Formats: sequence, structure tokens, C-alpha cells
Amino acid sequence: MLHPNTRIQLISDEIGSGVVATALIPKGTVVYVEDPLDIVLAPDHPLIRHPAYADTIETYSYRDASGSYVICWDGAKYINHACNPSTLTTGYGFELAIRDIQPGEEITDDYAIYNCPVFGPLRCGEPDCRGEVRPDDFDRLAHGWDARIREALQRYQDVDQPLSAYLSDPCRAALAGYLRTGRGYRSILNARYQDAEETPPQWA
Ligand SMILES: [Zn+2]
Repeated sequence: MLHPNTRIQLISDEIGSGVVATALIPKGTVVYVEDPLDIVLAPDHPLIRHPAYADTIETYSYRDASGSYVICWDGAKYINHACNPSTLTTGYGFELAIRDIQPGEEITDDYAIYNCPVFGPLRCGEPDCRGEVRPDDFDRLAHGWDARIREALQRYQDVDQPLSAYLSDPCRAALAGYLRTGRGYRSILNARYQDAEETPPQWA
């Protein structure tokens, strides 16, 4: 489920569609959370290697910690990569705004968190663009992501959370415990699929 103050918009002919904010989304806001309407395909699901579906699945899915392919039913599947993203996926199963996102600004995430195979060339247009996303980026960047997530979570209770109804009970309990005590933070490494370097499905 994607934050309501967003819309799908053509970013450019080269990039295609993306998701932009229609109103200020403050730092610390949950921008996306997986919900039961999302399509979840197990790693061995036959459609993943089906020639008519493989490209669509690869384009619009992310992989969770179990290696399953998750295809968001709503506009969340159009979120693009940025090496300097406005949101980050967290170890709590939701995506969090890590800075204030202004109206018209694009909602982006780092695809390295999506456990995807090599992806690129990237078109972020940022001076520190990594050029491509590699599976081993996850382990290299996780510490920095966690620092930014923890900083943004300090704002969690001070901002509107229109997606809070969609957080699972275990996620809500884990987050509440961390926010109350400052202990038991659930690292982004909980979203790491350990076999992400495996050869992706190919159809020749
Ligand atoms: Zn980049």
C-alpha cells in the first residue's frame, strides 16, 4: 500500500513512469508497506521463468528476505531507483521517508535493497551515482542505510502515518518496543535475501 499523497507520473521517456509526492511527505513517514493485496510469488513459482511473464515480473517486483518476488498491486511498483533515494526500505517491512519529500518530488528507493541481480546502467543523474546496482551493494551499504533509517524513525511518532493501519501486528509491536526503549532495532539486514547473487531467470 502506497502513501495516499502520491501519484504515478511520467518521469521521462527514458526512465518511464515513477511515483511523485502530491503534498509534503515529512521525514519519518511510512511511504509504502506490503499488504495482503500484493502478489507474492515463491522463488520456484513457474511464472517467474515463463517467457510471457518473466520480463514483467523482473521489472515490477522486489524480492523479500525469503527470495519471493513481490509485485505491488498499486502504484508502488513504479517506484524508481536512486543512489540518493528519498525513502529506504526498512527491516520492519515498510519503506520510510528519510528526508522531507516535497510536492512534485519523486519517491525513490535504493534497488540494492530489492535483492535484485545486477541492474543498470543507472540514470540517477547524481554526482555520486554508482552506475549500476549490484547484489553485494546490500552488505556494503546496509550500515549507512540503518543509520539514516534510525535517524528518520526518531520522527515517526511526530508525523501523520496514514499507512499505520496496514502495519502487521508483529511489525507494530517490534517498532513500538524500539521507539519506547531505543533497544531492539530491526536492521535492514532482515530484508536481505542471502542468495540474491544467484543467476536470475533468463530466457533466450
Ligand atoms: Zn545512481
